[in-house]
Amino acid sequence: MAYSHRMSQSPVFPSLQPSDPSAPPAATAAVAAQPGSAPADVDTLAGTERAVVIVGAGPAGLMAAEAAVVQGATVHVFDGMPSVGRKFLLAGIGGLNLTHAEPLPAFTARYAERAGTLAAWLQTLGPQQVRDWANSLGIDTFVGSSMRVFPKDLKAAPLLRHWLQRLRAQGVHFHMRHRWQGWDDDGACLFDTPQGARRCRPAATVLALGGGSWPKLGSDGAWWPALQALGADLAPLRPSNCGFDVSWSEHLRQRNAGTPLKNVALTVGGWRQVGEMVLTVGGVEGSLVYAASALLRNAIEQDGQAHCTLDLLPGRSQDWVQAELAHPRGPRSLATHLKTRLKLDGAKAALIWEQVPKAAQTDPVQLAAFIKALPLTLLAPRPLAEAISTAGGVRFEGLDAHLMLRQRPGVFVAGEMLDWEAPTGGYLLTACFSTGQVAGQGAAAWAQAGRDVRS
Ligand SMILES: Cc1cc2nc3c(=O)[nH]c(=O)nc-3n(C[C@H](O)[C@H](O)[C@H](O)COP(=O)(O)OP(=O)(O)OC[C@H]3O[C@@H](n4cnc5c(N)ncnc54)[C@H](O)[C@@H]3O)c2cc1C
Repeated sequence: MAYSHRMSQSPVFPSLQPSDPSAPPAATAAVAAQPGSAPADVDTLAGTERAVVIVGAGPAGLMAAEAAVVQGATVHVFDGMPSVGRKFLLAGIGGLNLTHAEPLPAFTARYAERAGTLAAWLQTLGPQQVRDWANSLGIDTFVGSSMRVFPKDLKAAPLLRHWLQRLRAQGVHFHMRHRWQGWDDDGACLFDTPQGARRCRPAATVLALGGGSWPKLGSDGAWWPALQALGADLAPLRPSNCGFDVSWSEHLRQRNAGTPLKNVALTVGGWRQVGEMVLTVGGVEGSLVYAASALLRNAIEQDGQAHCTLDLLPGRSQDWVQAELAHPRGPRSLATHLKTRLKLDGAKAALIWEQVPKAAQTDPVQLAAFIKALPLTLLAPRPLAEAISTAGGVRFEGLDAHLMLRQRPGVFVAGEMLDWEAPTGGYLLTACFSTGQVAGQGAAAWAQAGRDVRS
């Protein structure tokens, strides 16, 4: 078989070979061991001893399953939920932004301090490969006006359906309602199922359990204690692409919550971007806020609050705004003056009323300066459960180049449970696919190496 030929001639991952003298003894034991004797009341899952087990059937886990099965591995996928890919399906409600069509260097830079780590993997499975892969499932994609890439029908369900059909045809086994609980003393994976406790001791495991946002969809970060007990290198889970609390007046809450602010520019330090955000009962959210969320969150962590400014007329110069405001107002109210001269009304006018000191509201020079840089103080990020994605997780420093945990050889990690973050725009799914592929290939090679040793 081509795969085993490649492994014996030129091992893909020599450092993962159980026979490698540099591998810790535990690694050899983990791969070569047969299932231990299970407690009498725990059902042992048959047929998984030589398999790659994937825990978590989101985009990262499913891509790991695909990568492992095409390498010849027997693959079993487990998930705590009754069906796969619930967050992926939710992403489809927003059109399923699969990836982004900007050039790869710019694309990679979106992963900020983790760009260097992800770069090589994104070369192998990056934006173009994501589009090719979707295409291989019969799903055409298109590039939207902001260079975001979507399936033509803007839906996740057909893509997921075709993907599952292909995985099943390739022989991948699915086990739903199996909630991973960690490992028992002899290293077996433990699951809680409606039929009671189950265990399995596979040749290799991929954990693709997601982050901690939208826990009702299955990923709740409950994996944390098991990995912490292992001594894995973990960064705290924090909200990313999230909203923020602002102390609005009762008046603004009641009148303007839920109102979008279209075509505004947000500035945070040296960062500036034009876009759209939404005023909420307790603060702000929306794509423009999400884009700045890492900066804002980090500032709050450091200083207790974050200061930013809003340009309510990003297409106009301050001089122009000032000249318009300087037109005689006569008996008209400020609201009417703002509306007729600057076309500022609704939530934008409410913000001016709320944030600009009364004395400055009657001075065209000061008011123009506020309209071009309206100060906003953000008090706290919204809770992780409400965020689009999660920052923090398993640090790359605790993993090898194939995303295998140094503390537990044979266990690989993929997707959002890894410590990287990126803005919305398709970067999240692309990194999940990419790391899923790396982990799946690593797990398949590890399982294969164990088979080679046994045979
Ligand atoms: C509203 C919303 C819209 C989004 N839109 C986009 C978008 O358009 N483009 C984009 O790039 N990204 C988007 N994202 C982000 C994207 O969906 C995630 O980054 C991605 O789903 C993460 O993939 P994952 O496989 O790592 O984790 P998940 O998709 O969270 O999957 C993890 C799986 O693990 C399972 N699991 C967790 N714990 C256990 C356990 N103990 N035992 C067994 N199973 C367990 C869960 O049930 C789940 O099925 C969106 C997110 C949200 C919330």
